[in-house]
Amino acid sequence: MTDSYLNLANGTLKPVFKKLGLPQPAILRRYRPGSPLTVGPVLVVSDDASAADADAVAKVLTGWDVDVRRSPETADGERFGAVVLVLTGAETPAAVSAPVLTVAGTLRRLAGNGRVVTVSRAVADGDAPVLAATRGGVEGLVRSLGKELRGGSTANGIQLTGDAAVDSASAVATLRFFLSAKSAYVDGQLLPVGPSDAAGPVDWEAPLAGQVAVVTGAARGIGAAIARTMARDGAKVVVIDVPPAGESLATVANEIGGVALQLDITADDAADKILAATKPLGGLDILVHNAGITRDKLLANMTADKWDPVIAVNLTAQLQINERLLAAGVEGLRIVSLASTTGLAGNRGQTNYGYTKAGVIANAAAGAPVLAATGGTTNAVAPGWIETEMTAKVPALTRTVARRMPSLGQGGLPVDIAEAISFLASGPAAGINGQTLRVCGQHMVGK
Ligand code: NAD
Repeated sequence: MTDSYLNLANGTLKPVFKKLGLPQPAILRRYRPGSPLTVGPVLVVSDDASAADADAVAKVLTGWDVDVRRSPETADGERFGAVVLVLTGAETPAAVSAPVLTVAGTLRRLAGNGRVVTVSRAVADGDAPVLAATRGGVEGLVRSLGKELRGGSTANGIQLTGDAAVDSASAVATLRFFLSAKSAYVDGQLLPVGPSDAAGPVDWEAPLAGQVAVVTGAARGIGAAIARTMARDGAKVVVIDVPPAGESLATVANEIGGVALQLDITADDAADKILAATKPLGGLDILVHNAGITRDKLLANMTADKWDPVIAVNLTAQLQINERLLAAGVEGLRIVSLASTTGLAGNRGQTNYGYTKAGVIANAAAGAPVLAATGGTTNAVAPGWIETEMTAKVPALTRTVARRMPSLGQGGLPVDIAEAISFLASGPAAGINGQTLRVCGQHMVGK
């Protein structure tokens, strides 16, 4: 479904839109293999106490052939592709002032589709109140800046937890994700990143090389995009969908050199079928619970035929599959489940769907230690408004409003969700566990 407003605002009518003060969503830069990480040089700024960490970040960036700057001066007309603000050592709000104001002075020289990424420490149990305030404040800074940036630029933050170092594998992989075009529709988000002993991928263009991934609901929409992205990233992919979607499923599988498995995930033996399909490929490494349905009704009009199937497909099926796979001794499994901003904020007419998506978020959080004990992780991704056949069914006026609400002023594409999921499933993201990453263009509804 094309967004004609977005096309008009970026076409010959662009000056008219500007003159009338109408919202001007930008064409977002999306990842292409081999394309530069950022659209220009990357400035690394820090407070004094974070200088050593800023040096470590600069060294990582230099290793990626990025043009790293440590001073905010630019040549005439030059624009930064990104600014990384390192605040890991800051212990008082006063310490944050100078580096933040340095960043402020660069924002008019941030290129379109630019990035601002903060690297700070998460508030931890036992932090002194002043330290907690210093660290907690970063969240409000990032979320507010996300709402100010224009031209497809985004602001996101890495919150290091435990003793995770700024240049640990998971922190580095998260920095790369936030800087890259893979995070085009991620805005105003803070992602807690813990320590992990994962080694960085040998090849950033194939971070899933050698992995076997299963994607449910992959015949179309977001699931098909996840399957394509994971195959692009080097995984062998088993795509699952219900038998009536068999033809489209086979098309996706053929396109990516994957395996099609016609399966209703609510079937009792779904986990056994998944194990049987992945065994010849070398076992199961990644499981993406993407299949989902809607049966919208106000709760006052809700009936069992609208409530029960949504719970069965969106929630119970994945709980049962996870339980059986773990009981079967699968180790090191990387699970990513599709939540929704509806699971965070609620949505009129979607009590059934909202129940399941909030359930997915809670399940990922509670499942984290269980998966960690086997060397795995479980996370959720909460899409906002994504242009798919599911959202094409929504009435036109609601659709128009939903597209203009996020800071990025447009809906996302299935590939935006797929990029986030492929990142969370990748080896070096091992330090991210139990989290829900919103991919919503900063449609900050809900908590
Ligand atoms: P979609 O309807 O286009 O695709 C869902 C796929 O799941 C279909 O191919 C369907 O056949 C399959 N499926 C349904 N029941 C199944 C079952 N029992 N067993 C196996 N496969 C089954 O949906 P989409 O928009 O691509 O959404 C994918 C996921 O993302 C869903 O979990 C959805 O809730 C979530 N999501 C979507 C949006 C959005 O804006 N599109 C927003 C938030 C969350």
